[in-house]
Amino acid sequence: MILPEPIQNLVNALARLPGIGPKTASRLAFYLLRAPEETSRDLADALYQLKAGIAFCPVCFNITVAGRTECEICASAARDPALICVVEEPLDVIALERTDAFTGRYHVLHGTLNPIEGIGPEDLRIRELVGRVRAGGVSEVSLATNPSMEGDYTAAYLRQQILPLGVRVTRLARGLPVGGDLEYADQGTLVKALFGRQEA
Ligand SMILES: [Zn+2]
Repeated sequence: MILPEPIQNLVNALARLPGIGPKTASRLAFYLLRAPEETSRDLADALYQLKAGIAFCPVCFNITVAGRTECEICASAARDPALICVVEEPLDVIALERTDAFTGRYHVLHGTLNPIEGIGPEDLRIRELVGRVRAGGVSEVSLATNPSMEGDYTAAYLRQQILPLGVRVTRLARGLPVGGDLEYADQGTLVKALFGRQEA
């Protein structure tokens, strides 16, 4: 069956989202078709606001409110600029911030190295991280990529890049469940991982 174009367009757009196959995409599209107009409008507004209202911090690449020159954490004098915690995603920053145990700053890679999927160093914010370290004033880089194969591989690559710059490189993920995501770890485990970080 050929769907009318407006439905097909929505199905295609939804099917591009992670975890949503063509079947779920069709179900969602038909749900929205039947739902009150307000439901679609709220969704459309939220999607528009997401891009219009949010930007990435040009220093650490965490999410921030659009229009700011740097995020709240980078701008805070209370946060130690000598300690940088490297994470995969903005959600990891939120998880670590919830612990109230980390006083340094962050660097968000926006993914992990994955040679199989063709994701190389230039696809992540690695050059910017090396630039921050090179600029001086950093004494420790703590690698908090997830304890997964890609996370460990990324951490090993970063260690190789950063260690020659003469700063301490530590790994945070020890003690976290292997294969587990930082963002799902409980606060006690995260605090332990933060304080128990070891040389990478
Ligand atoms: Zn920032």
